[in-house]
This record gives sequence, structure tokens and C-alpha cells, in this order.
Amino acid sequence: MAGLEGKVAVVTGSSSGIGQSIAIRLAGEGAAVVIDFRGHRDGAEETQQKIAASSGRSIIVQADVSRVVDTQNLIDQAWQQLGGCDILVNNAGIEKGSDFWDTPEADYDAVLAVNLKGPFFLTQAFVRKLRDAKKSGRVINISSVHEDMVFPHFATYCASKGGIRMLMRDLAVELGPLGITVNNVAPGAIATPINQAMMSDPAKLNPLLRNIPLGRLGTREEVAGLVAYLASEEAAYITGSTFVIDGGLMRNYHEQ
Ligand code: NAP
Repeated sequence: MAGLEGKVAVVTGSSSGIGQSIAIRLAGEGAAVVIDFRGHRDGAEETQQKIAASSGRSIIVQADVSRVVDTQNLIDQAWQQLGGCDILVNNAGIEKGSDFWDTPEADYDAVLAVNLKGPFFLTQAFVRKLRDAKKSGRVINISSVHEDMVFPHFATYCASKGGIRMLMRDLAVELGPLGITVNNVAPGAIATPINQAMMSDPAKLNPLLRNIPLGRLGTREEVAGLVAYLASEEAAYITGSTFVIDGGLMRNYHEQ
């Protein structure tokens, strides 16, 4: 895989889970990384320490991606402190479960704001700078198998991830002439804090594992490897696609 030396990457939600592993991997490929967090500065500092341990370069910026002013600042900081921004990984995400008929408006607003509005306006800020500088770029959204697959009792999550599937397809066409590629990475079940409750409950974990042909959860590092490929020179001709990484789950799913 070609290296990312001289590139700058923003990774949202890189204080935990998949985003942390993506930040570490992209830095390992040579990119300078903007580590974003919302609530857990300790997690962001852990990411930075791990990057520094491999002689990588990073800065930490607090940004709530659901706030447009914060998304603008995230991109501004990349340009001011690191000299540009070539790669945007829209990873930050939340989920809230409830029966559809009981779902509160506040949950809808929170999930759609982080998972869809955030990537929309952060990508807008990213693109405006690249357009003005006449530079190419990469947008990689961490969506989910639920951009395509049902998830009963998580209608807000499905709506947000389905939305980002069409946003990706639309932007791939609109931004192609600017030399900006847009793709989604759609993980299945990955071992991260978002799944902690499920992973520690055998009654929930075991039926899920029976649904996964490869018989295990995926790792954060496996997702990060796919993102690193999509950010690399070798992926220069790829745009408008979703890359599923799920151990075969999508082809073999049965709701219990
Ligand atoms: P996680 O460990 O819970 O981490 C979520 C990250 O998002 C944290 O760094 C958190 O920051 C950040 N975040 C949340 N709200 C934010 C906001 N408003 N602004 C900025 N950052 C915010 O989750 P994960 O499992 O790694 O999930 C990462 C992405 O992968 C999500 O989009 C998720 O939907 C997707 N995904 C995960 C799985 C899976 O099985 N784990 C499967 C499919 C898709 P703070 O902690 O600092 O607040």
C-alpha cells in the first residue's frame, strides 16, 4: 500500500473504538492526523500517545460534529496547524434503541445530528477548502451494514446510516469533477465500546455469532486497514461505493 506521507487526515470520534484505530493506522502510514473528540479528552490523549509512540504526528481538537460551528473549526484547525486537509473520515456515531412507537424526538434529533448532519456539514467545510485550493481529497464515511440492512428497534440509527449511503452516492457524482472521492465503509459487528452491553451478555452475543459466517466479531484494526486502503493512492479510482466488512453477516442475517 502506498504511504500517506505529506497528507493530513481528520478522523472524527477518534477518542475511542474504530475511530481511534483509524487515526493510529493513518498516522502509521505517514499522515498527520487531527484527533477529534466530543466528551473524552482522555481517550483523545490516549490516541495521541499511541501515535507518538510510533513517531507519528497529530493534534487534538474538541468538536461536537452535530454543531456546524465545530465542524468548521475542525477543518480550520487542520489547515492552520497542519497546513491542509486531504482526507476526511466521518466516523463519529451514536445509536439509541427503542421501540419505534416510543422513540422520543430528542433521540431522533441526537442520532440524526451526529450520524448524518455532522458528516454533511463537515464534508461541506472540507470540500470548500479543497475547492478554493484546487486540491483533490478523500472522504470516507464509516456507515454500517445498517445503511442497507434492517435493525428493528433502532429506526433512528437505520435512518441515519441509510441517509449517509445516499449522501455518499450523491457527493461522489457532484465532487468527482473536483477530484474528491467519496466512499463508505460499512462494518458489521465490531468489538468496540458501542457494543459493550451486547458483548458482555451471552444471550445476545451468541445468537449474533451464529449469524456471522466467520464466527467472530471484527476488530477495529481490520476496519482501519480498509480505511487506510481507501485513503491510499491505490484507491484513487474508487468512488461512490460502499465497502462492507462484516464477516459475511449481511448475507446470512436472521432476526431472532
Ligand atoms: P464508540 O467506541 O462508541 O466511539 C464513538 C466515538 O464517536 C467516540 O470517539 C465519541 O467521542 C465520538 N462521538 C460521539 N458523538 C460525537 C459528537 N457529537 N461529536 C464528535 N464525536 C462524537 O463507537 P464505535 O463502535 O467505534 O463506532 C464508530 C463508528 O462506527 C460509528 O459511526 C458507528 O455507527 C460505526 N459502526 C460501528 C459498529 C460496531 O460494531 N462497533 C458497526 C457498524 C458501524 P467521545 O467519546 O469523546 O464523546
